[in-house]
Amino acid sequence: MIHFTCDGCQRPINLEDELRYVVRVEVYAAFDGEESDAADRDHLQEIDDILEALDELEDAGSDEEVFQQVRYDLCAECRKRFLRNPLGRMSNRGVGFSNN
Ligand SMILES: [Zn+2]
Repeated sequence: MIHFTCDGCQRPINLEDELRYVVRVEVYAAFDGEESDAADRDHLQEIDDILEALDELEDAGSDEEVFQQVRYDLCAECRKRFLRNPLGRMSNRGVGFSNN
């Protein structure tokens, strides 16, 4: 039997009586062309520019800064906690905010 460990609390997830949740996070650089005067350029030109920019970044060996994907397995508890606060901001704030 395959064993999963919760990436939130490090507890083994017992699939016989609980659900496992998968969180996939994609982080990628947003090339929206706003730094230049993109307002009246056509989309093909924009795509060209993006590809060029990606090429340059790849040459510089910084793929990870352009696109990164991570995956977590979570138990039900940690899923709730994650959804309430996906960016982990609670840690600087204390626990007391209302749950709507
Ligand atoms: Zn957990």
